This record gives sequence, structure tokens and C-alpha cells, in this order.
Amino acid sequence: MSKTETLADTQPDKGGPAQPLLIVRNLQKYFPVRGGIFGGKKAVVQAVDGVSFEVKKGETLGIVGESGCGKSTTARLLIGLLDKDKGEIIYDGQDLGGTLSLRELRRGVQMVFQDSYASLNPRLTIEASIAFGARIQGLSDPVGRARKLMERVGLAPDRFAQRYPHEVSGGQRQRINIARALAMSPRLVVLDEAVSALDKSVEAQVLNLLADLRREFGLTYIFISHDLNVVRYISDRILVMYLGEVVEIAPVDDIWTSQAHPYTRSLFSAMPSMDPDNRTKEPPLAGDPPNPINPPSGCRFHTRCRFSEDVCKAKVPLLHPLTAGSDHLAACHLHDISSGHSKAGKDVFE
Ligand code: SF4
Repeated sequence: MSKTETLADTQPDKGGPAQPLLIVRNLQKYFPVRGGIFGGKKAVVQAVDGVSFEVKKGETLGIVGESGCGKSTTARLLIGLLDKDKGEIIYDGQDLGGTLSLRELRRGVQMVFQDSYASLNPRLTIEASIAFGARIQGLSDPVGRARKLMERVGLAPDRFAQRYPHEVSGGQRQRINIARALAMSPRLVVLDEAVSALDKSVEAQVLNLLADLRREFGLTYIFISHDLNVVRYISDRILVMYLGEVVEIAPVDDIWTSQAHPYTRSLFSAMPSMDPDNRTKEPPLAGDPPNPINPPSGCRFHTRCRFSEDVCKAKVPLLHPLTAGSDHLAACHLHDISSGHSKAGKDVFE
């Protein structure tokens, strides 16, 4: 199957190659909750608060962080499954809610979820599931497109087209979900813990498939996972979230060898290692993440950070490059010599 056959209806590139495919600025999403025993007091969970980043054409941006840090909410905002409270989502130079409609966004941006079974309609055959979105969007030959994509993701159409989701394995269902996403000829695919529920051997096969499809179809990925090794394997850059905010973003090799934010440092140090010479010297991260209904003042990580000082409680650290022009950014007063932190500019991790 050639690229032109499958992606014949891909949306044209509206900007030049240098223009990021996706720009997210100050994205915010709060969820109202009822507080108190009688549920009378109103409160909000600050799920995503001021998140900004860009995704370049053809790259894979990995997003990591503890459970509840806002990764999946960010993903759902990006594809319009949730309405943002504030901020901008600019896809290929067009602003969602301005010149870009939700329908156009969903043509260009597709998502693969963790739960491969819940993502599929149990009453639709595999062929019908893959063809469904393309048919709704009015794309040409949805069934032919579905069969070609089944072939491409390793599911022979003659064997699988008329089966139902409960008749195949978890790995095969996730291949169906990938084919279903690609049937819309997207340019950006958001993969939210898409391989986390798979066995390790199947996970490796699906990761290799994703890498091949990215190259073949010129796709751009946002890859969300709690597994740092998996994120390292597939990503070009890694973005770290903590309690609804971005705390660090850097090229994968940079962040792998040198984490700038104390939270990122703790996250990487908690990774199990088979190498006795590579055991962590970093103390484990203390306590649970704070309540997102009432997050800490200043730096949200200050309640768990061993470098916390008064300035950390008083002042929100902004995301900025570690050195002028660097593409390694961190939001920590340690990296801002004008912050007033006593250890700012020093190598505190040595
Ligand atoms: Fe720790 Fe302060 Fe940096 Fe926050 S700003 S991570 S509390 S040193």
C-alpha cells in the first residue's frame, strides 16, 4: 500500500515546514466538584493549569508524569473531547474556535486510548469500526480504506474483517484502534497510554508498528505514558507534567542524561535498574501529590521538594530555557539566578 493510496484525503499543510503542527498556549481546564458533607460548597479541581507547548511536524512528543498530573485531560482537550476553559489550541496555524472548526480538528487529530475494548463498538465488525469515521467524514471508499489499513497493521482482512472486537486479542484490538485512527488520514495522532495494557512482547510489536507508520505516513505523535523507557524509545522530546502544569520539556537525550527539575529527577530515579552500578542515589519522592482542589502556592512541587525555600512558596517559577536559546526548558527557581533562591545557578544534584 502506498502512502498516496491511504492518505489521499490528508489535509494539506497550510504553513511551511518550520511552522509547528500544534501550538498550545496557556491551556486551562478546571472541573467543578461539590465539597463538604452535604455537597453544598463549590470547589474546582485544577486539572490543567496554564499548559503551553509546541509539537513540530513529524516529531513525537512524549508526555510523562504521575497519575492525576493532567496528561490525559490535556489529551482530551487537544482533540476536543473536553472544552477548554481558557487558552489556545492552534492546529496547523488555525485557532480552534476561530478559523478551525471542531470537525476540521478531528480530521487532522486522532486519538488511540488505553482501553482497546471500550474504544470499539461491540456491535460493529472490525471492518465497519475502521470504516465508520471515514464514512461520517465523507472520505472516499471507506471500506476499501479500512481493508488496506487492516493489511498494513497486520490484520489480514479475509480473516478479521467480519469478526467482532470480543473475538480478537488485546494486541489485535489495539491494532484495530490504530487503523481506525489512521482511516481518517490524520496528521497528528495522540496515543494515551496506548500500549500500557499490553503484554511486553505485544507492546514491543505495537511500538515498532507505530514507529514504522510514523515514518511511512509522515505522522506526528503525542505519546502519553507512565513508562519512561517506552517514552524514551519512541519520543524525540519529553514533556513532564506535575499537578496540572508543565515543569520540564527537553530533547529525549538531554533529559535522559541530565534532568533539570527536582521532580523530573525523582521520577527518573524511581525507574528500576538491572545495573548494580546504576542504582539511584536520589532519595525517594516524599508523600502523595497534593490535592488539585487546593494546590500549593508558588511552585506546586514545594511540599515534596528537598530544595524548597521561601521563594518557592511565594513565587510561581516560569518555564524558561536553561541557557539562552536552549531547547531544554524547566520551571524551577534553581535555574533562574534572579529568583532569589540561595542555590540558583548551582549544580545541586552533584
Ligand atoms: Fe523545588 Fe523550588 Fe524548584 Fe519548586 S522551584 S522544584 S520547590 S527548588
